[in-house]
Amino acid sequence: MQNLVVLGATGTIGRNTLDVAARHPDKLRVQGLTAQRDVEGLFELCRLHRPRYAVLVEPAAAARLRDLCRDAALDCEVMEGVAAICELAAHPEAGQVMSAIVGAAGLLPTLSAVRAGKRVLIANKEPLVMAGALLMAESARHGATLIPIDSEHNAIFQCLPSPARCGERPKGVHRLILTASGGPFRETPLAQLEAVTPQQAVRHPNWVMGQKISVDSATMMNKGLELIEAAVLYRLPADRLDVVIHPESAIHSVVEYVDGSMLAQLGQPDMRVPIAHALAWPERWESGVGGLDLAALGRFRFEAPDERRFPCLRLARFALRQGGALPNALNAANEVAVEAFLQHRLNYPGIPAVIEEVMDAAAGRQAGDDLDGILALDAWAREAAAAAVAELGRSLRHA
Ligand code: NAD
Ligand code: MG
Repeated sequence: MQNLVVLGATGTIGRNTLDVAARHPDKLRVQGLTAQRDVEGLFELCRLHRPRYAVLVEPAAAARLRDLCRDAALDCEVMEGVAAICELAAHPEAGQVMSAIVGAAGLLPTLSAVRAGKRVLIANKEPLVMAGALLMAESARHGATLIPIDSEHNAIFQCLPSPARCGERPKGVHRLILTASGGPFRETPLAQLEAVTPQQAVRHPNWVMGQKISVDSATMMNKGLELIEAAVLYRLPADRLDVVIHPESAIHSVVEYVDGSMLAQLGQPDMRVPIAHALAWPERWESGVGGLDLAALGRFRFEAPDERRFPCLRLARFALRQGGALPNALNAANEVAVEAFLQHRLNYPGIPAVIEEVMDAAAGRQAGDDLDGILALDAWAREAAAAAVAELGRSLRHA
């Protein structure tokens, strides 16, 4: 019996994780759940899964959850703040920690789990982009086990010679090919992209996901972040990492070996598959998802991504090749730009415009190798991005 802590429990990945965990009460016990501020959402999950601990970032929200749990006679200790999330992520009795907070906000809790030597199931890709070297070094030092949840990196993990280990360059691998659906705007005429709305951008053809990653999928920044994530997890240089658009989202990624063999993992576009794989690894457990009906699918298509359509992919490739401060700056600027887009303060082409401006300004800056340096660069890039958003917003209003 293992204790499971889910960071970001109320999100898409968090809920899918709890769905899988609830299928295996003989193997997993839900020990702790965390969220930012969704009181009702977390309370409902506490009633269903009976965790020993629950944490909300916002104190007022935590106070309300405490009342609700007391009134419902739940034996759940409710805590508040980021420090409490970090403490829970490192709890001595926690066996597996699902890292599923969205964005850079997940860095400190993920680092805390890594430094406690936990088995960390990592969905939260942004910390790997902003602080990949630090996370991998700390993981090696403290004997943590990282298992990727991102469907592409999980697919690659499954196709590597076993036992696969994140943070080590796999033997005999020539190239990793990340598949991408191409998102909702794969075929939208380029001239129309100027006017696409947040509602259109979050309507993903194949996957149900949180808002931020849905916009990232539309711009293909998601695939750009995933290239950097793959470089960090599998220690391969930029020229060994490729992206191919595969609109069916049936093949989740491909490992090409030096002998020309290519191994792929296939499955339904349902995150419970990689989640169950990671929870069970090296065993296999039921996920609640069946296999694919290949004959019904009929055919698989592949196409090369067009960087004019997806400038964010070009920017991420550049950040990966240059390294230094750029991946962190790219990630921070993207988070700020996507939020502004979702709030109608920035138009869709404004997203890559803001990121490029911040990356240009970041080119001469120190990378910041330790945590303080990384957080300082992140904060600087967010300020620069906010200024660029305001500037672009002004010029749009005057246009
Ligand atoms: P989501 O928006 O659905 O959920 C985010 C969760 O994080 C919520 O529980 C929220 O309360 C919590 N959270 C948000 N801000 C926080 C903060 N400042 N402090 C603490 N907690 C905070 O997101 P999601 O789609 O579940 O994605 C989570 C992560 O997994 C992201 O990094 C995403 O890129 C990655 N991922 C998601 C999918 C998917 O299918 N959804 C696939 C691959 C990778
Ligand atoms: Mg992915």
